[in-house]
Amino acid sequence: MKIAILGAGISGMALARFLQQGGVPMGSLHLFEAGPVAGGLCLSKTVDGFTYDVAGGHILFSKDADAMQWMKDEAGGDDAFVERDRHTKIRFEDRWVHYPFENGIGDLPKDANFDCLKGYVEAWHARKMTGSEAPADFKNWIRWRFGDGIADHFMDPYNEKIWKRPLEQITSDWVAGRVPDAPVEDVLRAAVGIRTEGYTHQSIFYYPKTGGFQGITDGLAGTLESQIRLNTPVTSVRRKADGWSVNDEDFDVVVNTIALTYLPEIIEGLPDDVARAMRELEYNGLVTYLVAMDREEHPNLSWIYLPQKKQGPANRVTYMSNYSPGNAPEGKTSFLIEITTPGGQPFPGQELEQEMLQGLEVAGLLKRDEILFTDRSQVNHAYVVFDHEYHHRRALVLDWMEAQGLNPLGRFGRFEYDNSDQCVIKAREKAAAMLPDLLG
Ligand SMILES: Cc1cc2nc3c(=O)[nH]c(=O)nc-3n(C[C@H](O)[C@H](O)[C@H](O)COP(=O)(O)OP(=O)(O)OC[C@H]3O[C@@H](n4cnc5c(N)ncnc54)[C@H](O)[C@@H]3O)c2cc1C
Repeated sequence: MKIAILGAGISGMALARFLQQGGVPMGSLHLFEAGPVAGGLCLSKTVDGFTYDVAGGHILFSKDADAMQWMKDEAGGDDAFVERDRHTKIRFEDRWVHYPFENGIGDLPKDANFDCLKGYVEAWHARKMTGSEAPADFKNWIRWRFGDGIADHFMDPYNEKIWKRPLEQITSDWVAGRVPDAPVEDVLRAAVGIRTEGYTHQSIFYYPKTGGFQGITDGLAGTLESQIRLNTPVTSVRRKADGWSVNDEDFDVVVNTIALTYLPEIIEGLPDDVARAMRELEYNGLVTYLVAMDREEHPNLSWIYLPQKKQGPANRVTYMSNYSPGNAPEGKTSFLIEITTPGGQPFPGQELEQEMLQGLEVAGLLKRDEILFTDRSQVNHAYVVFDHEYHHRRALVLDWMEAQGLNPLGRFGRFEYDNSDQCVIKAREKAAAMLPDLLG
């Protein structure tokens, strides 16, 4: 039995480990990885003693305690991790605003606080009185749910930075279940300065002591080492009478974790409508900058959001050296900056760095003379974009792949907004579904 797993990010590697732990011989598992190191979006990079996560700041947290423990165990056990309290804030003008924003409006300047409170109450009233249904597009959904003040001061500018397109083009259904409905009393309290917490998920998180978030995938890769073919892009997948051919080698089973948008160039004999749907799935890329700082200590923050245009192109800044002492040399600190880019388009040039640094100065986060150096990374696929064709295209593609036995798995292998813990949970489910056939 030969099993080909396409892509050695956390999804592919977790699947291989679960299959192996379920009784599949190691020698049956073959992972194809285009890059020089396994780990995909979980990779980290170390430069002159400063470590950062190349696809933006990553934390380990899961509602599924077993999955989280499994990830820790694969990467050296509890002792290999630090535990951190999550401290996130929004930077607004010259001040810090409690997160989530609706629970922090009392921290705003008085006129903005008034706008946000008025809008929130009006929107709440309209929903309660008319029972109006949630609008299908994200732009109108924001106003329906939070009101005009929060839309104007925070949600619109912040989301325009992340999504890089008019918010009308995005659906609201993906966000509906993710944003808890803050009781109106809490927002009233917040507005007059009584602290309310808001939702408190992820109040604690874990992070590898050394090596960045990649410590987790390094643990998996260490066990699977001999079965991972690095620097080996999959260039062709062909159906055969009794299985599959991958790069002209025969396999009995194929599991794909490679981004669906790449597959029309790889899978032979794709129906036209499936190939078109794959190509048209929308996504955003990401540019990240490590900013190494000659500064002894950061404020006690995990990450912050930068909603305002004048704060530059960055939408999120991670206080990377706060995650683990292993992330910066002693007496130094670091930031990790995230800037999304429209998927499939050329990445911005060097000018982006100056715009980013200028924005951070305006936001009051740093001074130029504190910067030791910067380092830039970029990833092609970072965020799934939930445009109005998303469900239709995705269903067409996944139905076809499932019917063919191409086993789609992973964040961009299924085009889902999954964190690494969810990738592990889905790999565990996939392995459980495959094992009876493989062992039977
Ligand atoms: C900004 C951002 C923040 C995030 N924050 C968190 C967080 O805090 N916590 C968390 O748990 N998760 C977080 N995530 C999500 C997490 O990174 C992903 O869920 C996870 O890494 C996806 O793993 P994957 O294996 O499904 O996909 P990938 O990591 O994309 O793996 C796919 C693999 O396929 C390889 N590949 C591509 N083409 C080919 C080819 N032709 N042939 C062979 N191989 C190929 C790639 O090199 C890659 O290694 C974040 C993601 C982003 C973008």
